[in-house]
Amino acid sequence: MICFICNKGETAQGTTSVLLEREDISLTIHNVPVLVCQICNEAYADEGVTASLLNEAEKMANDGIKVVSHDFALADKYPQPYS
Ligand SMILES: [Zn+2]
Repeated sequence: MICFICNKGETAQGTTSVLLEREDISLTIHNVPVLVCQICNEAYADEGVTASLLNEAEKMANDGIKVVSHDFALADKYPQPYS
């Protein structure tokens, strides 16, 4: 697809790190699969990816966990002890 930000770049499959902060929680996920603009590097996550990140943030809030940082591939293994 053509990038919405610069309207010039084609997007290609890549990965990025996503930081999601809400109130007092901080969720950092690395190697998130996204489409990345080849010109301006804007990253586009699909709905399933976005939903799983928001879902994890929700679980963190419910469990009283404040800070999480891990690989996207490990997201399905939640809950895990965080270190
Ligand atoms: Zn772009």
